[in-house]
Amino acid sequence: MSPDVRTDLDAIPAYVPGATVPGAVKLASNETTAGPLPSVAAAIADAAAGANRYPDITSRALVKRLADFLGVEPENVTAGCGSVALCQQLVQAVCAPGDEVIYGWRSFEAYPIISRIAHAVPVQVPNRADGSLDLDAIADAVTDRTRLIFLCTPNNPTGPAVSRTDLAAFLDRVPARVTVALDEAYYEYVRSSDPVDGVAEAMTRPNVVSLRTFSKAYGLAGLRVGYMVGPAELVTSVSKMVVPFSVSSLAQAAGIACLEAGDELRARTDAVVAERTRVRDALLGMGYEVPESQANFVWLPLGERAAGFNEHCRERLVITRCFAGDGVRISVGDPEENDRLLAAAQEFVTVM
Ligand SMILES: *Cc1c(COP(=O)(O)O)cnc(C)c1O
Repeated sequence: MSPDVRTDLDAIPAYVPGATVPGAVKLASNETTAGPLPSVAAAIADAAAGANRYPDITSRALVKRLADFLGVEPENVTAGCGSVALCQQLVQAVCAPGDEVIYGWRSFEAYPIISRIAHAVPVQVPNRADGSLDLDAIADAVTDRTRLIFLCTPNNPTGPAVSRTDLAAFLDRVPARVTVALDEAYYEYVRSSDPVDGVAEAMTRPNVVSLRTFSKAYGLAGLRVGYMVGPAELVTSVSKMVVPFSVSSLAQAAGIACLEAGDELRARTDAVVAERTRVRDALLGMGYEVPESQANFVWLPLGERAAGFNEHCRERLVITRCFAGDGVRISVGDPEENDRLLAAAQEFVTVM
C-alpha cells in the first residue's frame, strides 16, 4: 500500500509541453529561434564559474536593475523561477482553500493547474468568438469568494490583446479586494494602437500586478527567470511563497545582461512582428480563420480538425501545439521555418 497523498490529485491536469522532435522545426512553445546574444551567453558562462555558491536568495542585483529599467522602486519588483512560478506564488499568497480564481478560457494552461495545487477553485470564462477575453463576462463572474483574476494579454494561445481603454473600464468594475494579475509574457511583441502597460497599471492601482518573463522575447526559456511588478505589500506577500534559491545565479546574471542589451533584443522582436503579419496574411489567404495576434504565435481555431492539422504538420517535420478539438497554436519562427509551416498549411487546405 502506498502512503496517503491528497485525494484530489487526479483532478489536477498535467502541464503538456510543446513537443521536441530531432531535426524538426519547432513552432510549439513560443520560444525564440535564435539563442542568447553573445553578451548574454558570456554572462551565463561567467556565472557558471561560480556555480558552487548559492545564488542571492532575493536576486537583489537583478531586482535593482529591473526597477531602474522599469522606473519603479525595488520594493515593487520580485523575481521568480519563470513567471509561471510567480503565477503559482500569487495564487498561494492570495487564496485560501475554496477561494476562486477567474480567467478567460482558453488561456494559459498553467492557470487551472496552479489554482488546484493551491486548493483554489478555477472559474473559466469563455472567450469571445474572435479569441479575445470577454472582460464583461469576467467582471460578471466575480463573487464573494473571488480572490484573483488572471488576464493574459496578449492571450496565449489565441493571440488578441486587451486595449488600455477596455482594461480601465474593467478594472473600475472589479472590487479592490480582488487582485488582478496582468500576465504579460508576450508584452514585448505588442504593437497595438492602444496598448496596455501593466507596470503603469500596477503602479497606479493597489490591486493590480504585472507578470513578465525573460523566456519569450528575451530568449531565455531554458534558464527560468521572470518577474512580477506590483504594490509593495502584494510583492512582499508573493515573495513569501518562493521556493528558496529557485532563481539560479545563471538566470540572475543572464537577466541583467539582457537588460543591458535592450536595443538588440528589441530589434529581434520587430523581426518576429513582421513575420507574424506575413504568416497571418498568408494563412488568411489560404482560407484559414486566424484571430489578430499581438504575440509571437498565431492561433487556428480548427475545432475537430485541429488534431489532423497538427499531425499533417508533424509528418512534414513542423511541430505545432495542438489543443485537440479546439485549435492549433503556431509560434512565429524564422522566415525559413515559417515558410515550411506555410507550405504544410497550404497542402492541408487541399486535403481538408
Ligand atoms: C510562457 C508563458 C509564461 C511564463 O513563462 P516562464 O517561462 O515561466 O517565464 C507565463 N504566462 C504565459 C501566458 C505564457 O505563455
